[in-house]
Amino acid sequence: MQSSLTPFRVAVIGGGPAGLMAAETLAQAGVRVDLYDAMPSVGRKFLLAGRSGMNITHAEAYPDFVGRYGASAQPLRPALDAFGPQAVRDWVHGLGLETFVGTSGRVFPTDMKAAPLLRAWVHRLRESGVQFHMRHRWLGWQDGALRFSAPGDDGAAGERLVRSDAAILALGGGSWARLGSDGAWLPLLAGCGVEVAPLAPANCGFDVNWSEHFSSRHAGEPLMTVAVIARDTQGREMRKQGQFVVTQGGIEGSLIYALSAALRDQIAAEGHTTIWLDLMPDWTAQRVADELMRPRGARSLSSHLQSRLGIKGVKAGLLRECLSKEQFSDEVQLARAIKRLPLRLERARPIDEAISSAGGVKWSALEGSMLKTVPGVFVAGEMIDWEAPTGGYLLTACFAGGVAAARDALAWLTPR
Ligand SMILES: Cc1cc2nc3c(=O)[nH]c(=O)nc-3n(C[C@H](O)[C@H](O)[C@H](O)COP(=O)(O)OP(=O)(O)OC[C@H]3O[C@@H](n4cnc5c(N)ncnc54)[C@H](O)[C@@H]3O)c2cc1C
Repeated sequence: MQSSLTPFRVAVIGGGPAGLMAAETLAQAGVRVDLYDAMPSVGRKFLLAGRSGMNITHAEAYPDFVGRYGASAQPLRPALDAFGPQAVRDWVHGLGLETFVGTSGRVFPTDMKAAPLLRAWVHRLRESGVQFHMRHRWLGWQDGALRFSAPGDDGAAGERLVRSDAAILALGGGSWARLGSDGAWLPLLAGCGVEVAPLAPANCGFDVNWSEHFSSRHAGEPLMTVAVIARDTQGREMRKQGQFVVTQGGIEGSLIYALSAALRDQIAAEGHTTIWLDLMPDWTAQRVADELMRPRGARSLSSHLQSRLGIKGVKAGLLRECLSKEQFSDEVQLARAIKRLPLRLERARPIDEAISSAGGVKWSALEGSMLKTVPGVFVAGEMIDWEAPTGGYLLTACFAGGVAAARDALAWLTPR
């Protein structure tokens, strides 16, 4: 076990990727670290991320990578410069695991899982002296001490006050509350004068008023080759190609997540929004029209669609669902709709189902990673008001934020 080289004691609250990385950075500097988490074990959302093939970071060119954080690229930049995609990969390798770059540029641990990584990481943290305090729910401050609800020695509910030289909050966003990140910290910090933005779903699905007929036939079916055209809040069109899934009450999947920030903001502004589906994204409008206009003899329009354009199943169902009978039977209108089928989205799915959340501690509330109104308290990870698409960007910013918060805390402590 590494001995404490400095007299400092720092509390890290939240044992997700951001908090664990902050704890590791502090422990490496010889600080005594106490890590608190409300749950019985750390890294629960991290483990969930590993279930569907965890992207730990992304291998695209660094300027493009940073650009994925949109309006938060600039405030996140120093943290990403100090601990970016390559540092994340080196860090994984340092835990004895390999990584590979997928065809999309996403970087995965070789077995695509989070559990072996988390196990090795927690083991290394314990070895370096980090003390883990589970089932400790942070409730705020009392007389300058951190206040926790925590079971007593007899297991009964109780409260504990903890004093530390500095604290790092890494409490996560507001999705998947049952894994620990419930956003309950937001009113607590707002009450201390910290500027916060409401938490909102990010990388989320959307509700569509499907007919019973359509959803009973097609819920769960993927659209493998499709493009979505959407407008941003300024009315500019964006087009992305990929895949998504029809659900019982709407749509979800990587292509929808990639557009979800703009769609969410537009629904907030207008009450609903419309996207347009290009069901044959690799075909020109002319080719679609030419194939559709070919004589079909006694064949029904549906079998003509299938034999000439390969449109069947959920794609054919969508055309029937979104077009009137007259539009469907008019080849000109049908050809147009295949390339640009309007679909009205009613609302974003609830935040608890989202991959991540937007909102949280505003950048204007921070000096570096320290809360301006609560000196000596630093924040990291998804609880800060940034958002990013899926593809490893979320975890990279959480890791980088953890390192940055720890370094800022060390710099703040050292001159004293
Ligand atoms: C299904 C799914 C798949 C995902 N896949 C990926 C992926 O492949 N790649 C990627 O980059 N990202 C992915 N993510 C997102 C990624 O997991 C999160 O962005 C990341 O875990 C956030 O890290 P964090 O440390 O900020 O917060 P969290 O991981 O949410 O950790 C916060 C911790 O704080 C604790 N806590 C909260 N409040 C309190 C309190 N009051 N007192 C004490 N403890 C508290 C919680 O128990 C929790 O352990 C995925 C998310 C989901 C839901």
